[in-house]
Amino acid sequence: MSTGNPARSHYDVVVVGGGHNGLVAAAYLARAGVSTLLLERLDHTGGAAISAQAFRGHPVRLSRYSYLVSLMPDELMADLDLDVTLVSRRTASHTPTLRDGVPGGLHVERPEGARTRESFAALTGGEEEYAAWQRFYTEVGTLAEALAPTFLQPLPSEADLRGQVDPVIWRDLVERPLGEAVERRFRDDTVRGVVATDALIGTFASLHDPSLVQNRCFLYHLVGNGNGEWRVPVGGMGAVTDGLLRAATAAGAEVLTGAGVSAITPGVDGAEVTWHGPSGTRSVTAGRVLSGVAPWVLRILLGEGEAPEKPVGAQLKINLLLERLPRLRSGVDPSEAFAGTLHLGEDYSEVERAYAEAAAGQVPTTMPGEVYCHSLTDPSILGDAPDGTHTLTYFGLHTPSTLFDDPTTREERKALAVERALAELDRHLVDPIASVVATDADGRPCIEAKIPQEIEADLAMPGGHIFHGDLEWPWASPRALLDSPAARWGVQTDHERVLLCGSGARRGGAVSGLGGHNAAQAVLESM
Ligand SMILES: Cc1cc2nc3c(=O)[nH]c(=O)nc-3n(C[C@H](O)[C@H](O)[C@H](O)COP(=O)(O)OP(=O)(O)OC[C@H]3O[C@@H](n4cnc5c(N)ncnc54)[C@H](O)[C@@H]3O)c2cc1C
Repeated sequence: MSTGNPARSHYDVVVVGGGHNGLVAAAYLARAGVSTLLLERLDHTGGAAISAQAFRGHPVRLSRYSYLVSLMPDELMADLDLDVTLVSRRTASHTPTLRDGVPGGLHVERPEGARTRESFAALTGGEEEYAAWQRFYTEVGTLAEALAPTFLQPLPSEADLRGQVDPVIWRDLVERPLGEAVERRFRDDTVRGVVATDALIGTFASLHDPSLVQNRCFLYHLVGNGNGEWRVPVGGMGAVTDGLLRAATAAGAEVLTGAGVSAITPGVDGAEVTWHGPSGTRSVTAGRVLSGVAPWVLRILLGEGEAPEKPVGAQLKINLLLERLPRLRSGVDPSEAFAGTLHLGEDYSEVERAYAEAAAGQVPTTMPGEVYCHSLTDPSILGDAPDGTHTLTYFGLHTPSTLFDDPTTREERKALAVERALAELDRHLVDPIASVVATDADGRPCIEAKIPQEIEADLAMPGGHIFHGDLEWPWASPRALLDSPAARWGVQTDHERVLLCGSGARRGGAVSGLGGHNAAQAVLESM
């Protein structure tokens, strides 16, 4: 990795953007003997998959943006000799509840056992809801098992996949708004919410949205490696990216940081790529350009101007460093409750209400969001922090970038959203969160909050959209014209020599490497 000049004036492939997907593409291509240059505008690679020291005076390495891995195929990690360990969490989720003022909670273990069954029974007053839960996820599992092996292949056809699963689960997940299935299959508001929120991570939609964007988001969250488990990268997300950077450079890819690409000029045999770096404006030619930046950004780099519909990111991200874990009012051991996904304000009725409020331009009164403690599963990121120290990360739903568009009210609205998010946590705590937050070297609380605009400023994700734009179905539609390797792999653009390799590629969303892998395969097939 360097900040200098490129070694050559022409490359087989130039990769624009050094997110984890760009690195995956570069690693596969360089290993196949393709001359590859990767250009990254920041002074480090990784994009949204990095570790950082977020708080002055605390050398703790937080996964600053993305934090869990599910969609990266084990096969891809093995292909690239990625020396990264992904660890299972012993708690899948914990949802604290307050019913008639009585604190309780829905606890889902991993793997699910007697305690999970008892927790459902205690919350819902019978066995039916857990039976419905098991039935639903078993059925979802059949689609996951059919879909996961296709991720490193050209796009499967919709008909192929439909033929492999029961028509009812296909209808529930693919044809009708997810809210219908959730309401038909489950009765309890909390259980419904725990199921439904996988559809809303980084996706601003009602569960009844006719676009079905929420169904696509749900599917991506349930199918990784055929089981949909979200695992903890030991050493944080930076360990994933560092491993990929090593794989790319060891294979001979050149990686330049501090290289913000300003133009991609496509031609018949390739394209010219121009960037601004520490030593001024530079350009090289390439047989093919892979875009690891969002399609919305790519249009601008191609000189085609801003697309009228900019993606709308929808999450509030808060990182915290704690002196100790807070106690819960329910008496549940915090080291169990915070080890998985802790749902807050995410009853089904609450998420639908929050959506309606946010769609009407208001910060949701009850902020839906989820909290997770990395350091309970992987303390290695803490370094030599004092005993008891823990990291906590909050991912809030339904705070679309549109809420913060007006610069005159942005700070005030952000403060309100953060206050409401933390208040929702405090409802379930004996120790208010403020009483256990560590302070930084300047005496300030270790709380770092980012609205979509700040994610965009940091990472150039348009609108702060965590997937570079709304997710697409991970298969080819019946009408798709699969007339080139790029189309067959789901990475095509309007320009034959320019391919998508990032989150905006079909199947590219999340920390999966699929965009990078699939673009590299399309290039290798067409060379
Ligand atoms: C707050 C947050 C939480 C998330 N949580 C999770 C999670 O837990 N698990 C999960 O799987 N996914 C999660 N995601 C989504 C996931 O992180 C992204 O989908 C994924 O990291 C995208 O990777 P990428 O390589 O495609 O693009 P990016 O990570 O966006 O990388 C693109 C790179 O291109 C660079 N770039 C942009 N413009 C230019 C230019 N003009 N010239 C040169 N370089 C440029 C950027 O600086 C960046 O490094 C989260 C995302 C966010 C923001």
